Amino acid sequence: MAGASDVTVREIPPRSGAAFVLQAGEVLRVIDPLGTQVSDLVAYNAADVREVISNGRTFDYEETIALTTDHRLFSNRSNVMLQIVEDTVGRHDFLLTPCSEATFCHFYPQHPVHRGCFGNLAEALAPFGIEPDAIPTAFNLFMNVPVLGNGSLRVDPPTSKAGDYIRLRAEMDLIIGLTACSAYASNGGSFKPIHYEIEK
Ligand SMILES: [Zn+2]
Repeated sequence: MAGASDVTVREIPPRSGAAFVLQAGEVLRVIDPLGTQVSDLVAYNAADVREVISNGRTFDYEETIALTTDHRLFSNRSNVMLQIVEDTVGRHDFLLTPCSEATFCHFYPQHPVHRGCFGNLAEALAPFGIEPDAIPTAFNLFMNVPVLGNGSLRVDPPTSKAGDYIRLRAEMDLIIGLTACSAYASNGGSFKPIHYEIEK
């Protein structure tokens, strides 16, 4: 893989998040280093953060909710933000919102409340002028949400194994928010780090 040997691998510790610029043409590789760990991804147009990744537009244009290699991720303005160029897992979710204080209260009343991916994204994105209300439904890398025959949803452990990854190419200059997810069910009951690197 060209360029893979001369890029820096960065770590997002368990139950935390990061935000960074990804320039047009660069490829973001997100790695599940230990396996069975979700990473929520959001994207904004770096030139105008009111333009944001949109699951609904993406489902419209790609005519599927099973997004993998060669699929494009669209913005609320119907522009392509990212294209998936490689995917060793093939199982991701774009239906469910980032876990948050409110979802912890709802699903895990027996556990301490955590700010979740939503709170982690809000803190990481604040320096870019992005407010919490501007956080959309994330593209949940490695998250395994089967849609059952009656339309109901289940959250199963990710199928990702240690070292699995997805690579996404930026089609415009972007601000990316990325997490190591904090929710119990999404991650098979334990919290692991996420690794990422930017191939220029
Ligand atoms: Zn989460």
